[in-house]
Amino acid sequence: MKTLSEVAEEARQCVKCGTCMAQCPVYVETLEEPLVARGKLGLIEAVGAGDSEFNKRVGKILSQCLLCGTCAENCPNGIPADEIIREARSLLVKEKGLSFSKKAIFTHLLNSHHLMPLLLKGGASLQNLFLKQIPEESGLHLRFPVPMLDQRRVIPPLAHDFFLDLHSGWVHAEKETLRVGLFVGCVSNYLFPSISRSALDLFLRHGVSVFIPENQRCCGLPAYGSGDEETPRSLARKNIEAFDEDGLEKIIAPCASCASMLRLDYPLLFDESDPFRMVAVSFSSKVIDASQFLGGLLGPASGENGQHQKALRVTYHDPCHLRRKLGIFKEPRNLLKALPGLEYVEMSEANRCCGQGGSFNLANYDLSLKILGRKVQSVEESGADIVTTACSGCLLQLMDGLHQQGLKKEVRHLVEMI
Ligand code: SF4
Ligand code: SF4
Repeated sequence: MKTLSEVAEEARQCVKCGTCMAQCPVYVETLEEPLVARGKLGLIEAVGAGDSEFNKRVGKILSQCLLCGTCAENCPNGIPADEIIREARSLLVKEKGLSFSKKAIFTHLLNSHHLMPLLLKGGASLQNLFLKQIPEESGLHLRFPVPMLDQRRVIPPLAHDFFLDLHSGWVHAEKETLRVGLFVGCVSNYLFPSISRSALDLFLRHGVSVFIPENQRCCGLPAYGSGDEETPRSLARKNIEAFDEDGLEKIIAPCASCASMLRLDYPLLFDESDPFRMVAVSFSSKVIDASQFLGGLLGPASGENGQHQKALRVTYHDPCHLRRKLGIFKEPRNLLKALPGLEYVEMSEANRCCGQGGSFNLANYDLSLKILGRKVQSVEESGADIVTTACSGCLLQLMDGLHQQGLKKEVRHLVEMI
């Protein structure tokens, strides 16, 4: 972890030109100067100089950031503002500790191998008691208030059978050409097993044998984004050890946010002096997002699906972690354009953040909904019947947004579409 003076020095490099303001999703909705990148960086600089401190107000301002990276993408001076803001959150957590609810969720729930599946299994059988079905829609609402979860939010029902309970260990392809590991991710394991099931089927059909460690855990991103570095460090060790299997050439993550965390952030969790860092570097170098992997596996997509009747229109939302962090945006579109029976339509501002932002949408639900409103408008204007994305967080957010606006459109993960 960087020191306060190192982080403050990075923040000081911002020349406060304001070029990034027009694109910041939070600023566009609030028009509050402290909430744009230069405002937050100025605040971090002030804390570093001793002119301010990590108090409640500073914590609130730092929490009002999606870590979407739009500011960094548009900064003419190459300031990684989103990374500096995340580092400042870590320093704040180190000084003040996590809130009670975050501590309970990150330290005790995410970090435990048995507790989360056990609780969610209990939840799956009790969900009809606590949740009510939304009439004519596939989703649920809370019956009673629950901390951090707004009662307006659409909650997809927990899966009857979790993916890792049904599939684990080696699954061999008939004519094996490649061996990979599958990182399932929490949303696909507990809510939408069909995402990982689709990935598994596709891989097997193309001669790819798949290793699915039963003891794999959450990638740790929700905790990392909130400034907790201990939980993701512990999860990273466990995940890296779980995938320590001979012959794995790649480790595929269908969720873009998990892929970004595993590939870019895992090595950073370990000090350079820690021997485990090199183990993490080796693990991370094998991690690849499913759409990038499938783009290579299925060959160059022609985009010529004209011989088929185009019954439905499909559009695509770029997850920030996939487009800005991993630089992948062509592959998902090419894959969709090559699908028979579908017409691909590009929505306006497809790369604009949907407002999910991990714990951002829990702590700032109304603001998150406002940001999401623009995305929903783009989806509506595109005329698409189906909206796809490659991140499970965006998937949940889009489902919620379309429901809030009363739009009956299907939301599907890209891998399921393929
Ligand atoms: S990361 Fe996104 S939300 Fe945060 S300051 Fe930058 S543009 Fe705004
Ligand atoms: S983060 Fe970059 S674009 Fe934004 S105000 Fe600072 S220097 Fe300018």
